[in-house]
Amino acid sequence: MKITIIGTGYVGLVTGACLAELGNDVFCLDVDQKKIDLLNSGGIPIHEPGLDEVVARNRAAGRLQFSTDVAASVAHGEVQFIAVGTPPDEDGSADLQYVLAAARNIGKHMTGFKVVVDKSTVPVGTADRVGAALRTELDARGERLAFSVASNPEFLKEGAAVEDFMRPDRIVIGCDSTPEGDRARELLRKLYAPFNRNRERTHWMDVRSSEFTKYAANAMLATRISFMNELANLADQVGVDIEAVRHGIGSDPRIGHSFLYAGAGYGGSCFPKDVQALERTARQYDQDLLILRAVEQVNDKQKQVLGRKVVKRFGEDLSGKHFAVWGLAFKPNTDDMREAPARVLLKQLLDGGASVAVYDPVAMTEAKRVLELDLNAGELARVRFADSPMDTLTDAEALVIVTEWKAFRSPDFDKIKAALKQAVIFDGRNLFEPEVMAEAGFEYHGIGRSILT
Ligand code: NAD
Repeated sequence: MKITIIGTGYVGLVTGACLAELGNDVFCLDVDQKKIDLLNSGGIPIHEPGLDEVVARNRAAGRLQFSTDVAASVAHGEVQFIAVGTPPDEDGSADLQYVLAAARNIGKHMTGFKVVVDKSTVPVGTADRVGAALRTELDARGERLAFSVASNPEFLKEGAAVEDFMRPDRIVIGCDSTPEGDRARELLRKLYAPFNRNRERTHWMDVRSSEFTKYAANAMLATRISFMNELANLADQVGVDIEAVRHGIGSDPRIGHSFLYAGAGYGGSCFPKDVQALERTARQYDQDLLILRAVEQVNDKQKQVLGRKVVKRFGEDLSGKHFAVWGLAFKPNTDDMREAPARVLLKQLLDGGASVAVYDPVAMTEAKRVLELDLNAGELARVRFADSPMDTLTDAEALVIVTEWKAFRSPDFDKIKAALKQAVIFDGRNLFEPEVMAEAGFEYHGIGRSILT
């Protein structure tokens, strides 16, 4: 099938590359000329395991093209996926300007039937607004062409995006019940048929329920994280090991093990903004989502927990003190620093007067970019970007771990101890066992595990 993907970010690029991998003829559009030039020269703008091979293979096969040519992109696909960003507006609601701009472009250039699919995470009712924007452009041209707007939210996880797209747990598609909606359903059924060969993974529903499902999923996951973080902080006070509790409750199939890890708070481009946007939608209907408000507050506090533990141990005034920081990306296997807990920690340490040496396996370039925005010149001068985990340790009072990269899980503890000024570790992801750390001669601060240290 001929498919157009509008927006070549995490979601658009992965969707485009994976649909091309299945044999479709895919046209990826972006407004960012630099990104398109990079892709056309064989580069990949994001770190995503396996993505470079899929992109290279399908470009070579002529099934995947990248362009900024709007008219050509509209002409290409009968199915037009909108996968542009929906960042938070000033009031926390989803900013739909990019989605609506994409819709207007389709309306300006289309010459036949189109299925417009909202893949971006968008609030309930957005498909109606996309339809209205498109219709306005058609009216301005005096055209009465048919189209349908469907919803197909994306559930891929950064760091495992290609795998998630190719082997989805489920596909959610919302179409309306008009003749155009039926036509959209049939086209999308055909497009997604390869994913449903062994079992039906698609949940067909109405458009608004589909839009809502994405927010409900992210809100639920964020809730589990904040729930465990809040309990972990209490565990620290009352002498309980939150890891034992995690195993104890996760083995109940009604609860399950996933997303029960206490840590330094959630970040990334999705959970924070989607929780906020859902709260904002509720407020528009005079409803207060109390649970989600708490989820957000708990997470804001949790991002400060590591810094607070450092201050409790080393005092408010950290001037002249140096710390090693492992992990900057908001989670492993990505270079994404959006809303990353490491940004909050670094600000706290630098505010306190400390200097830091930081390391991340893939997010160093992105970290330099965002820290230039976060920090003033004086603070930035106190950040050293190290070449390896071990390179961070010299003269450091303590090691602080913020991201659970696999490469950090089995380090040489003797070398760490020898390099640090004091054998102190703050582990924001509970990577290590407190007893083992104590035996190795470390003062160990996990999250919710103080009973054991
Ligand atoms: P992103 O910022 O990485 O990419 C968006 C791209 O859209 C950018 O390259 C931008 O230049 C381009 N763009 C903006 N306006 C455009 C226009 N009018 N025409 C063409 N291109 C345009 O964003 P992302 O992380 O891929 O997220 C996209 C959407 O998918 C968001 O709504 C997000 O919430 C949702 N989502 C993201 C993830 C994730 O893990 N990143 C997962 C599921 C859903």
